[in-house]
Amino acid sequence: MTTWRIAIVGGGPAGLMAAEVLSAGSGLRVDIYDAMPSVGRKFLMAGKGGMNITHSEPLADFVGRYCARAGQVASWLDTFGPQALRDWIHGLGIATFVGSSGRGVPTEMKAAPLLRAWLHRLRGQGVQFHVRHRWLGWHDGQLRFDTPTGELAVAADAVLLAVGGGSWAKLGSDGAWVPVLREAGVAVEALKPANCGFDVDWSPYFCERHAGQAVKPVVATVGKHTRQGEFNITDSGIEGGLIYALAADLRDALARDGRAALHLDLAPGRDLERLTADLARPRGRDSLANHLRRRAGIEGVKAALLRELCAPEALASPSALAAAIKGLPLPVTATRPLDEAISTAGGVSFDALDPGLMLRGIPGVFCAGEMLDWEAPTGGYLLTACFASGQVAARGILAWLQDRI
Ligand SMILES: Cc1cc2nc3c(=O)[nH]c(=O)nc-3n(C[C@H](O)[C@H](O)[C@H](O)COP(=O)(O)OP(=O)(O)OC[C@H]3O[C@@H](n4cnc5c(N)ncnc54)[C@H](O)[C@@H]3O)c2cc1C
Repeated sequence: MTTWRIAIVGGGPAGLMAAEVLSAGSGLRVDIYDAMPSVGRKFLMAGKGGMNITHSEPLADFVGRYCARAGQVASWLDTFGPQALRDWIHGLGIATFVGSSGRGVPTEMKAAPLLRAWLHRLRGQGVQFHVRHRWLGWHDGQLRFDTPTGELAVAADAVLLAVGGGSWAKLGSDGAWVPVLREAGVAVEALKPANCGFDVDWSPYFCERHAGQAVKPVVATVGKHTRQGEFNITDSGIEGGLIYALAADLRDALARDGRAALHLDLAPGRDLERLTADLARPRGRDSLANHLRRRAGIEGVKAALLRELCAPEALASPSALAAAIKGLPLPVTATRPLDEAISTAGGVSFDALDPGLMLRGIPGVFCAGEMLDWEAPTGGYLLTACFASGQVAARGILAWLQDRI
């Protein structure tokens, strides 16, 4: 009897999940190839700041986080949704809890114990790992790998590419696969930063004094989307949870219009009319800083932002000052580079894939994970979709092989 041989390129959450499904009692030979000296490096990094692996909100809201790709990702989540993911984690002996924000987190808040248990299970199921094997493309239908002992050609009955996006290249996923797939005729949307920071033209004065400080609480609006939260001032601009949540809108506005701005409400919960009246009260001998603190509760970096971004006339007029506090435009000039982003938008176009995630133009080659053309905010949505797409691609491979018997 033939033993089908499956080559998985990329040992991140998507590739490892596919390996688990494929090696679970199917009699297939499953080999994982990864360019790095060990697998799951970005997954481990995701675990460093307190890993959010999924979210407990209702499925309809959850699916909505994938915006333009909600339809496609919904079908993956039908196969392996947030609850199935939590059950699977528990099956590895790792407890999870739902935090106050609704995010599902391993109790230990780390990825390492989970990855250790998972790799142990995969080895037990016969999965073979080949690290320091960088996939270069194809030659005569075989996969080409650069290895420490030279170039290696690998023949496989089915291939899963799960090589990640283009950010944090030092963890392994560098987007070098884009030209390889394009050359093979696969439609790939340009990779773009998602959940990223932005450049702002700070004055040296502002930057020196306020880089590293958190602006909180604020409400920020870009286009139709408004979010409350906090963000950080950096040497080059802005970053942090609130910025990541609005990053896709800001990035797309920059690309479309050549400019974009975040509109900040520095005094959430305070009414514009009341604020105007408070700021119009006689200032006496008070400095502007004291007046802002006493009358509007604005101080520190928030007051500095007003000075940095408002014309002197606006600072002198109570109504203009109140309007600026409630809707301060903060212009951004560019996204931070892709390599710094938490995740990647763009990637293999869904038109190039069948529902089982096989490339229509290259039968027997499947794709999963962040390398596909979808994006989502942080908070567990990225990992959940990577795991789910790994499941879908593995099932697609099994069905495809079944048809060939
Ligand atoms: C700092 C940080 C924090 C994050 N926090 C969270 C979080 O809390 N929650 C969340 O949901 N998501 C988070 N993410 C995102 C999440 O980690 C990724 O979306 C996820 O790891 C992507 O999984 P993947 O399997 O598609 O790709 P990756 O995890 O990127 O794995 C791809 C693998 O392919 C290998 N590879 C790449 N090219 C080649 C090649 N040519 N040949 C061989 N191997 C190759 C790489 O070495 C890598 O091991 C975070 C990301 C970062 C950077």
